[in-house]
Amino acid sequence: MSAPDLLIIGGGSTGLSASIVARELGLSVELLDERPALGGNYFAGAGNPSAGKTKLGEGYAQGADLLRKANGPGMRNGAFAWRIEPDGKTYFIDPAGKVGSISPRRLLIATGAQERPVPIAGALLPGVMYAGAAQLMLKTFGSIPAGRAVLVGCGPLLLLLAKQLLSQGAAPAALIETTPRAGLLITATSLPAALKVPALLSEGLGFRSALKKSAMAWHRQASGVFISGRDKAQSVTFTDRHGQRHTIMADLILLHDGVIPNDHVARQLKCKETWNPGQHCFNTTVDQWGETSRKGIFAAGDCTGIWGVEAARMSGEIAALEIARQLGFINADERDRRAAEPLRQRARQVAFRPFVETHFPPTLARAGFADGDTVICRCEMVTAGEIRLAVRQGASGPDQLKSFTRCGMGPCQGRSCAMAVAEIIASETGRSIGEIGRHDIRAPLKPLPLGQIATARDAAEEIVA
Ligand SMILES: Cc1cc2nc3c(=O)[nH]c(=O)nc-3n(C[C@H](O)[C@H](O)[C@H](O)COP(=O)(O)OP(=O)(O)OC[C@H]3O[C@@H](n4cnc5c(N)ncnc54)[C@H](O)[C@@H]3O)c2cc1C
Repeated sequence: MSAPDLLIIGGGSTGLSASIVARELGLSVELLDERPALGGNYFAGAGNPSAGKTKLGEGYAQGADLLRKANGPGMRNGAFAWRIEPDGKTYFIDPAGKVGSISPRRLLIATGAQERPVPIAGALLPGVMYAGAAQLMLKTFGSIPAGRAVLVGCGPLLLLLAKQLLSQGAAPAALIETTPRAGLLITATSLPAALKVPALLSEGLGFRSALKKSAMAWHRQASGVFISGRDKAQSVTFTDRHGQRHTIMADLILLHDGVIPNDHVARQLKCKETWNPGQHCFNTTVDQWGETSRKGIFAAGDCTGIWGVEAARMSGEIAALEIARQLGFINADERDRRAAEPLRQRARQVAFRPFVETHFPPTLARAGFADGDTVICRCEMVTAGEIRLAVRQGASGPDQLKSFTRCGMGPCQGRSCAMAVAEIIASETGRSIGEIGRHDIRAPLKPLPLGQIATARDAAEEIVA
């Protein structure tokens, strides 16, 4: 077991930036990331550049430099953190399948985001994927969809992927955007703050103009979306903004409805969280330095709320500075001097978010709740109708619902269904989603074979307890 000054869980923009600053200040740092290569969601594959990757955008091209600077001892990729104690002691599975543990003086959770699950009819058929997953395959392996790919949903990542596929010569057959008109109008009120970050605005406008110029069919303000097929998804049906019904044939359907924090580590530690109605997700409560409601446990980047890649980078740096101060590597004056610029830059990025949030409210995911047959818990195959019935029969919250329906008891521990469950209970009971909350999260964070857990020599008793 090692005992570094700082352990970081997550090697995306946040974790990498934090590790660079912490090491510069003299802290010993270890970092765990479950993926085979560091970089997180934005910089996936950035350490392994190839010709096609230059077409993925200027921001992405900076990833190789970030990864080079962060490279050093204690960076463990392919290592999944599966149990975290309240004092930050962390158990992980290394790439050889053995349990290791780290007892850091401070812990930084930097586990990023996940795509918002989209439970609509047909979403579980083979041939349906999430757009972010397809983008990860493009960035990591240079894979592009074969055949007719149709992109469906709402959010900047969907438009970005369409543009990235176009620039790789793999034009999607169609983009079916569910972004509602209301979202477009409300956006005007958040425009002044957005104008202060012109680079992000012009990037977004650039996507739209590249898509407009292409030959790709682009349907906007679509509603009533469902996927059909017998053994495999074959088509997407939707109503367009003029009320006309369409069915488009597809070999691959890529869904997207924005991203939400990947906050299972913070939830396993029972860190406080609040409902963010703008982002339509829960945010882990942190102070301006990233310290959670548990002293000595920090969280930063998209796992605390969806603030974007630049804010994630700043948040990692800011957390590292405060951790260095708490451990006596720098004093408060030094921390404040170094943190001034990242704090200012992060504030600008955060002020931009309401523009994105109002422009792209989640639509597709929530539309599926109305249909009783929609599968909400894909591990235990529990439908929206079964959840509603259980709530009427007395299941008052997500944990009670488990004993009524087994919803949330499968291997993903509610990663796929927790948000939908909270929304359905809220709509049935009239209570707020913030009050309802989500299922409790327990270790192991993802299923592990018992044989692997048994490799924990120094802590077997503790783990079993
Ligand atoms: C699929 C996807 C694609 C995205 N693409 C874009 C894009 O193209 N452009 C854009 O602007 N934004 C994109 N985003 C948003 C973007 O990811 C963030 O703004 C930014 O990457 C946040 O950085 P981060 O370091 O906080 O998290 P991330 O970059 O998400 O990194 C988190 C890391 O934590 C690791 N991790 C999580 N749990 C554990 C655990 N228990 N043990 C060990 N490691 C763990 C993950 O493997 C991951 O590498 C995307 C988000 C998603 C979900």
